[in-house]
Amino acid sequence: MEVCSKCGNPKIIIKRKQSGQALCNSCFIENIQRKVIKTIKKEKLIDKGDKILVALSGGKDSVAVLDILYTFYEKKIIDLCAVTIDEGIANYRDEGVKIAIDYAKELEIEHEVISFKNSFGLTLDEIMKNPNHRGSCSYCGVFRRWILNKSAKKLRADKIATGHNLDDETQAILMNYLEGNLHNLSKLGPKIESNVFIPKIKPLREVPEYEIGLYGVAKDLNVHRSSCPYANTSFRMEISKMMKKLSETHPTIMYSTLRGFDKIKIAIKNQYDNTNNFSRCKICNEPSSGSLCQVCSFLKEL
Ligand code: SF4
Ligand SMILES: [Zn+2]
Ligand SMILES: [Zn+2]
Repeated sequence: MEVCSKCGNPKIIIKRKQSGQALCNSCFIENIQRKVIKTIKKEKLIDKGDKILVALSGGKDSVAVLDILYTFYEKKIIDLCAVTIDEGIANYRDEGVKIAIDYAKELEIEHEVISFKNSFGLTLDEIMKNPNHRGSCSYCGVFRRWILNKSAKKLRADKIATGHNLDDETQAILMNYLEGNLHNLSKLGPKIESNVFIPKIKPLREVPEYEIGLYGVAKDLNVHRSSCPYANTSFRMEISKMMKKLSETHPTIMYSTLRGFDKIKIAIKNQYDNTNNFSRCKICNEPSSGSLCQVCSFLKEL
């Protein structure tokens, strides 16, 4: 009978294909927390006294990132706040927003819910009714970044923590590589810094999506489990399916994609990163590479 590789408990909840390691509930929780803390230390994601804003959607990734960062908050290493973005996606977003509100209340941390409608006058559903739209995820990503950066400045946060996991990061690496978008590729990594945007950190970057889902179950965290109705239409979803398929026969492929990228990222960054060549958007005054930021050019187009 298979038992936990750490403590011998016969009730295992995971057997890792890549290493053969089997873990029980409590050893798995400890293992994930250690792994995330290791990433935080290795990549120097947190400095003592930082105020970290968690982008809290209520999904498994953002709830897990808040759960783990909360241990730093309890030890008074950091201060925490959270922002939840309501994109305006019918029959989907409301549940996540409610979970986020309840979780922030339970942890007694500062929390704000900000909607696309209040910020830009349009919900994502309304944008998608425009026949000339560019695809839901293009707006979603750009609009969310704008809101998070603005909120972080307002809440005086030093960094923005997102729930990006290993699957998200490898998908982004492959998508940008396949599209030949070296500028976007240069902006990937565990910590994204620039002179004008609030730095972004990804503490879960080395944890596979499946294990984050399992962490939520193991810790009995209340998370929003349904997926966005627009997700199926994206290029990212095609890449995600391809990587999942490849992982069945090559269980370490996502790690090797990440490690390979981390080795060449400095060279790409030096050559293609222009995040520090910025001016100010003449409409909203947020950082922008041209006279209008991407949000304001999208809104003009719509
Ligand atoms: S999948 Fe949905 S929530 Fe995610 S970026 Fe696309 S539209 Fe936004
Ligand atoms: Zn164990
Ligand atoms: Zn603007």
